[in-house]
Amino acid sequence: MTTLADPVPGGRPADLRRVAALTAGLAAQGVRGIVLAYVDTAGVGRVKTIPTARLEAAVSWGVGMSPVFDTFLAHDTIVTTDVLGSPDGDLRLYPDLDRLVVLAAQPGWAWAPVDRITQEGERHPGCSRTFLRRTVTDAAARHGLTFKAAIEVEWAFGLGSAPPGEFVPAVPGPAYGATRQVGLSDCTADLLAALAAQDVDVDQLHPEYAAGQFEVSVGALDPVAAADRSVLVRQTIRAVAARHGLRVSFAPAMSAEGVGNGGHLHLSCWRDGVNLHAGGERRYGMTPEAESFAAGVLARMPALTAVTAPSPASYLRLRPSRWAGAFTAWGRETREAALRVVTGTAGRREQDANLEVKPVDLAANPYLALGCVLAAGLDGITAGLPLPEEITGDPARYGPDEAAALGVRRLPVSLPEAVGEFRADRVLRAALGPVLADAVTAVRLGEVAATGGLTDDQVAAAYRWTY
Ligand code: GLU
Ligand code: MG
Repeated sequence: MTTLADPVPGGRPADLRRVAALTAGLAAQGVRGIVLAYVDTAGVGRVKTIPTARLEAAVSWGVGMSPVFDTFLAHDTIVTTDVLGSPDGDLRLYPDLDRLVVLAAQPGWAWAPVDRITQEGERHPGCSRTFLRRTVTDAAARHGLTFKAAIEVEWAFGLGSAPPGEFVPAVPGPAYGATRQVGLSDCTADLLAALAAQDVDVDQLHPEYAAGQFEVSVGALDPVAAADRSVLVRQTIRAVAARHGLRVSFAPAMSAEGVGNGGHLHLSCWRDGVNLHAGGERRYGMTPEAESFAAGVLARMPALTAVTAPSPASYLRLRPSRWAGAFTAWGRETREAALRVVTGTAGRREQDANLEVKPVDLAANPYLALGCVLAAGLDGITAGLPLPEEITGDPARYGPDEAAALGVRRLPVSLPEAVGEFRADRVLRAALGPVLADAVTAVRLGEVAATGGLTDDQVAAAYRWTY
């Protein structure tokens, strides 16, 4: 579970009661420092670290960090909005003790995600983790809903000895190839061990389609914990790879051609312990609310891409025939549609049925992505949106008339197009609030300006090692 309480100056009472014992336990395990982690608007993981002995002070009063990172671009230049991007001001980072873990592949270190509040003790409107936490608590209050979520992680393993900037796959061999599994046997066994030691329940780990690519899928948690977990899983993959002399990239596209790295979201809505995606009277056992939730996400998918596919490189991945879900359509187990309805196998449906959102990559800030997808789905429920006809097969085969009749649209083909959709979307902007919505717009436009005139190959190269 995740604490749903906002941090307060002086510390959350439940944290204060246990921090001394926790600190002593960490010190006894040889933990010397704690990584305080968050993700910026551009999707880059940023950290501060403290010695273990400072944990109590951090839990009570937070750790200082400038709000300027909310408008950092992926390559560390800064854009500004009405209220963000100035050199003034400071925020307090508060670790979430419920999510603190000892890092198995970084001896001497523990890790915790943070919420950020102002020095006056107020909610920082640019804090993406707080945005997701609030979205979840509002949904519980207004709709009586809870959620389970998981984020798939795909990445490329490159040789650490390759020239800087270059990608040389760390292992040869075909998609899902046994040779790749053998080639990286020690590294991936260490990865499984590290994830298990960190209480990350792994469903699967396998060689994926593209050169040097692997994927790990993990168990579902509440949305905030799922976003935290995706950050932790990536920290762990990097750390294990570094110990094996390998380089890791979660970039949407390793090259302009071919399959990219996805970060598909799996989501299910629950009420009173019952999964709304199973056992209902609608298609594939969905309840009316589950259908409307899916319809809400589908309706806003073009605007959502500004959050779920936020990099110029995202649009090298978000193309037909790459299982990235480049069309506004849904289908049962359809891997070319934006939404894949996952029913699970007979006998497991009540637990497993969920909705997979595919046009999401790992340049996305997972808190913003989950929060915005939830906001879109909840708006669908509020509006009682009908879910259109499902599609089967590849939507790329439709001619323009057939696609229009079915309501199937190609998702934005570029970041500027996605930003245009996002700016026109009042539901997403309202959910984010003006500060975060403006940060998203400004950062995306900053990335567009930074890559103006680059070829696809140059865009791929520019972001290859950024995420
Ligand atoms: N690599 C694909 C993507 O970019 C996903 C492949 C899969 O379905 O797992 O989304
Ligand atoms: Mg995959």
